[in-house]
Amino acid sequence: MSTQENKMEAIVSLAKRRGFIYPGSDIYGGLSGTWDYGPLGVTLKRNIMQLWWRMFVEERDDMYGVDAAILMNQKVWQASGHVDTFTDPLVEDLETKQRFRADHLLKDAGVEVDGLSLDDMSRVIKERGIKSPNGNELSEVRTFNMMFKTTVGPVANDDSISYLRPETAQGIFTNYKNIVDSFYPNLPFGVAQQGKAFRNEISPRDFIFRSREFEQMEIEYFVDPSHWEESFEHWRQQVWRWTQALGLADEAVHELEVPENDRAHYSKRTIDFEFDFPIGREELLGLAYRTDFDLMNIQNKSGKSMDYTIKGTNTKFVPHVIEPSFGVERAVMAVLSSAYTEDEINGESRVVLKLPAHLAPVKVAISPLVRNKPELVERAREIYERFKKAHGAVMWDDNGNIGKRYRRQDEIGTPYCVVVDFQTLEDGTVTVRDRDTTEQRRLSVDDVLSL
Ligand code: ATP
Repeated sequence: MSTQENKMEAIVSLAKRRGFIYPGSDIYGGLSGTWDYGPLGVTLKRNIMQLWWRMFVEERDDMYGVDAAILMNQKVWQASGHVDTFTDPLVEDLETKQRFRADHLLKDAGVEVDGLSLDDMSRVIKERGIKSPNGNELSEVRTFNMMFKTTVGPVANDDSISYLRPETAQGIFTNYKNIVDSFYPNLPFGVAQQGKAFRNEISPRDFIFRSREFEQMEIEYFVDPSHWEESFEHWRQQVWRWTQALGLADEAVHELEVPENDRAHYSKRTIDFEFDFPIGREELLGLAYRTDFDLMNIQNKSGKSMDYTIKGTNTKFVPHVIEPSFGVERAVMAVLSSAYTEDEINGESRVVLKLPAHLAPVKVAISPLVRNKPELVERAREIYERFKKAHGAVMWDDNGNIGKRYRRQDEIGTPYCVVVDFQTLEDGTVTVRDRDTTEQRRLSVDDVLSL
């Protein structure tokens, strides 16, 4: 097994053991492609989502947030093309009836799949004698729509069909006119949304990387088509700011300029940002110039004008769109895998999550040196309460000896451990231990609070 595979396994196991991420419905044998965030995971995920909201909505004056309903009128998905074309190529194991992504099996067998039609894929599978992962014959390749279908209301018929949204973007496009009517912003301006998306992936795999229920953070940035290149470049730079804010090394992030024949037909330019995950180099997020495709579809289907009038003029047009589309799970997985480190301290090996301090679920752990001295425990409790009020993300930890506490906090990425000892009772200083260097310093409580 490669060391990268070992690393992936170690991360999945740490995530479960320490309360970051559990397999969904585990107690009933699981539900493939679903994951539950535990106490540390939900905080890490929220820290990532809040950082994004701060950087891309709150710190800017050209961005508007929305939180649209997950269930939408089925016309949304007819107009957007999802009902007809949001499909993946599927093959079936003829013995077990298990289903697989045909393009993934082909890629695993070293076949270049970009641009292959369904018939091409079926032919290559036959010619090369490609079998299912169980070693059995495979069916012809056919398409499979990835949207989860449901019905709304007490009567199930064609009119009550709805879908769990497969992307958050459409909740933005359908509110474009509302935002213009309420705020009439100057172009360019953007609308941002974070929230759940659902895709019935044929073969969810690689931990949270390919899930059936996940979260997206998307921006539709509305521009004058004659200036789209400027805005595209702007968002390309913003994506780099984002990957740096996540603490990802620039060398591990790669831009893949998607060639014309692989782009959606309406997209004039797309860059996939890939990351060197332990599972290999894979898509972290996407940046696409979607032209006026979505707003025009809405205009045609709804009969309502999507025109934007430049203020003080009679110049009207349907804006074009630059779309940076971020996946939360992939950000979490990139952050965890770039933070996961095994090193040696004084001849002892340890696991440490070198999370950027602003993302770490616990910022400081507070311990009394020993548990059986009431005056020490009382003082440590007071200090803990002060930290908790000031920073929230503070953990009380008095289990086992100090060395064990440090190891445990290293494993969950806590940047600082504060130990209250007998000297604290005399001069009010505490020991502060740094996660990455393991260095210890004596500081006053006030100095630590302002760190
Ligand atoms: P892929 O090619 O990996 O299936 P995609 O190109 O279909 O991804 P988009 O439709 O561009 O993905 O979705 C935007 C972002 O949403 C992706 O860059 C990714 O971060 C995230 N995403 C998409 N599908 C999933 C999934 N099944 N699980 C987790 N995140 C996902």
